[in-house]
Amino acid sequence: MTPFTYARAENAADALRLGQANATAYLGGGTNLVDLIRETVARPMALVDVTGLSGEIEETEGGGLMIGAAVRNTALAEHLVVRTRYPVLSRAILAGASAQIRNMATVGGNLLQRTRCTYFYDTDGSRCNKRAPGSGCDAIEGLTRGHAILGASSACVATHPSDMCVALAALDAIVHLHGRGGARTLPFTELHRLPGDHPEFDTVLEPGELITAIELPPLRFAANSTYRKVRDRASYAFALASIAAALEIEGGIIKDVRIALGGVAHKPWRASKAEAALRGGPATEEAFLAAAVAEMADAAPLRDNGFKLALTKRTLVAVLGDLAGAAA
Ligand SMILES: Cc1cc2nc3c(=O)[nH]c(=O)nc-3n(C[C@H](O)[C@H](O)[C@H](O)COP(=O)(O)OP(=O)(O)OC[C@H]3O[C@@H](n4cnc5c(N)ncnc54)[C@H](O)[C@@H]3O)c2cc1C
Repeated sequence: MTPFTYARAENAADALRLGQANATAYLGGGTNLVDLIRETVARPMALVDVTGLSGEIEETEGGGLMIGAAVRNTALAEHLVVRTRYPVLSRAILAGASAQIRNMATVGGNLLQRTRCTYFYDTDGSRCNKRAPGSGCDAIEGLTRGHAILGASSACVATHPSDMCVALAALDAIVHLHGRGGARTLPFTELHRLPGDHPEFDTVLEPGELITAIELPPLRFAANSTYRKVRDRASYAFALASIAAALEIEGGIIKDVRIALGGVAHKPWRASKAEAALRGGPATEEAFLAAAVAEMADAAPLRDNGFKLALTKRTLVAVLGDLAGAAA
């Protein structure tokens, strides 16, 4: 392990000041970063502890929520407004990791947790363009059961591991950032990148840029929302495929819908094609299946993960059926 310095920031300005030196990493709950340092995948020279940033969850004037970057995953999942107005978010968080890890993990850290591709972690034996740019990708010809079927490239087939992020992608969340150039906001769906030729970059963040908060806009029908995760074990396993969805139905017709997919791409995958296919149409199983087929039309499975195609479609149809039943 490379030696590093440690400093605790009291607030965002402090964190930004401390975070601009080269090879500095922000430290949230440490549940991912510390593992990466131990495995020598990450080699920061300095850690800036950002758990002193806002840990508040506040209602906004418009009826949404502002969630500080240092809010722990457990606190967010248990918040009454989240459970009642955005149940998809609460369920997604509770589907991830373990109670102990959720107690430690922060919102900022969850957004920036890195892939669970085993080739990424195998520093001794495997080539990985995400860990060592330009070195190659041993996953593509390797064991690909957990890898991407949408939006992958010849440089990287890793998936994004977060459950919470899939819900945030469906909920039109907004990321609040602070960097050298000042504060800015970004639609959540634009935070994470597809791999292209540069899988070493998971997000569009600038070096040293800090996540300060996540904003959930009001989305009335998100009260009828849910998250379903399919995985190898009932707990403590990452998604093979997951669905975050919210559905509004009036007189048997779909008035509005939000869908995002997890476990299938390098980023939380907003299912815009499925949404477009559903809006204004009947809330029937045939329509749900047609939407799932439309979304997955460009899927490109690898040797071992063809099952994800059928699994994702089936899970999406089942989730939409449940939400339609609840709406009725
Ligand atoms: C055994 C195990 C099982 C797990 N299972 C799941 C699962 O099923 N589903 C799931 O979704 N997750 C799972 N996780 C991952 C877990 O959710 C993440 O480790 C956690 O959310 C990361 O949050 P953290 O605060 O500990 O981040 P850290 O480890 O502290 O940091 C992660 C990254 O975020 C950066 N960072 C942190 N805060 C900020 C900030 N404010 N601004 C900018 N950068 C920041 C850090 O520099 C680092 O790069 C699992 C983890 C473990 C160890």
